[in-house]
Amino acid sequence: MAHLLHQFLTDTATRDPARTALIAGEARRSFAELDRDSDAVACALQSAGIGRGDRVAVMLENSVEYVAGLFGALKAGAVFVPVNPSTKSDKLAYLLADCGVRALIAPAALARQVLPALSETPVPPTILWVGPAIPAEADGLLYADALAAPHRLPADPGLIDQDLAAIMYTSGTTGRPKGVMLTHANFVNTSWAISTYLNNTPDDVVMCVLPLTFGYGLSQILTGARIGFTVVLERSFAFPMETLKRMVQHRITGLPGVPTFFSTLLNLEALKTADLSSLRYITNAAAPLPAAHLRRVHELFPQAAFHSMYGMTECCTRICTLDPADLDVKPASVGRAIPNCETFIADEDGNRLPPGTVGELVVRGANVMRGYWNRPEDTAKRLRSGPLGETLLFTGDLFTQDADGHLYFVSRKDDVFKCRGEKVSPKEVENVLYELEAIAEACVVGVPDTADGLAVKAYLVPRDDATLSEPAIRQHCRGRLESHLVPKFIEVRDALPKTETGKIKRTDLAQTA
Ligand code: ATP
Ligand code: MG
Repeated sequence: MAHLLHQFLTDTATRDPARTALIAGEARRSFAELDRDSDAVACALQSAGIGRGDRVAVMLENSVEYVAGLFGALKAGAVFVPVNPSTKSDKLAYLLADCGVRALIAPAALARQVLPALSETPVPPTILWVGPAIPAEADGLLYADALAAPHRLPADPGLIDQDLAAIMYTSGTTGRPKGVMLTHANFVNTSWAISTYLNNTPDDVVMCVLPLTFGYGLSQILTGARIGFTVVLERSFAFPMETLKRMVQHRITGLPGVPTFFSTLLNLEALKTADLSSLRYITNAAAPLPAAHLRRVHELFPQAAFHSMYGMTECCTRICTLDPADLDVKPASVGRAIPNCETFIADEDGNRLPPGTVGELVVRGANVMRGYWNRPEDTAKRLRSGPLGETLLFTGDLFTQDADGHLYFVSRKDDVFKCRGEKVSPKEVENVLYELEAIAEACVVGVPDTADGLAVKAYLVPRDDATLSEPAIRQHCRGRLESHLVPKFIEVRDALPKTETGKIKRTDLAQTA
């Protein structure tokens, strides 16, 4: 069995060379082609002096070049650092300096944005430019030249599974992104666990609209390489109708998404008549899918198993998943720990709490990160030593557990606020708001209020051209929520601020309130 991540690709390329690994727009790559492309990238990086433990950032959109860059960096022995190409220059400079980047794979078209961002990196990195030519103002190597070179195998960097495979920056939902250090063992284990509970086979065709710079997107590529299935890779979800057409055309079997994705998809009139009978499973993660949206997904695709999942970058993206067979009885649960992982719910001191009590979710297992890159204090807040000297990860998320061990996400610890002395979990209010068909997006925050201390405020985005009536919304909430949970303030907007991974930025809204 593979113990290094890139062996997923080399093993599958040997076993099933001709099978299609990727369909990205007009581009297609078989596993053998992808293996060759990534050998070429690895050789180019090694010839520039990159080796074991060096950080290689890949700043590309979802594309075959991204995937070849990922496996090429790993084959060279380097630590892969995904960076979203739309990252603004300040944040880009911060990320590249923070990880001490040694090589960068970037689009030539973005040279103007990339070059100034390198001013703060201690050593100028080698750049592998993806494009027709090296930009006039820059040095570096050309990706196309690397690919055109006669095929060679990269030198063996002599890695073990405890070497770092990636530094992945968190979504930055709650502040500055932190670099999560993940080892080859973390990824190998978690990819195995994920593809096991999804029952993936080489016949799967998975639609990936998720950014590959995000752990959930990346895991589609990794499980695909492990199992040898095809990933249909979308650059983004900017053209939902086009994406829907390709879902039908390629007869996709797997559809991973996040709540904002499903909300847009459900809005498409054409979805009702699209032939998606090939769809075998759907997964949701990153944020809770409102119950009303879950019901609609279920009605539209009764044949598809729905997996509700929860995880975080710090746990190689996956902690638990709900067995689709339990969905009818426990629709609000995110299930139980994935294989090779254990969870419990703890009080402030780390003591285990009994079922039915709200507390912080604690994780131990093969998916737990090594720590945050260069941030020992942040690491110490999250990682503690357990009674056997094992590493425990404190997630910062509040959960309850039922008698069967099924987990229920309550809220992020930091999102809970008090109104009139009583606790408000924004998710509880949002779920009730989402029951109204006219509401496409909802975000609830606590805003300073002289009468209540903090009052409940709801930011709402209407579906299509629906008009929202405040009295009707309050009336609906009053029928379902305790009085302190009914939004005192309602603000309707055209859109809500989002992270690169499509999460609503609650902290931004709380600040502007
Ligand atoms: P940052 O740590 O930088 O503030 P982030 O926590 O959003 O950003 P990620 O690691 O991408 O970055 O997201 C993990 C978090 O997302 C979890 O800690 C949890 O709060 C939330 N989350 C993930 N899956 C679910 C889910 N199914 N239901 C509810 N919340 C979820
Ligand atoms: Mg986080």
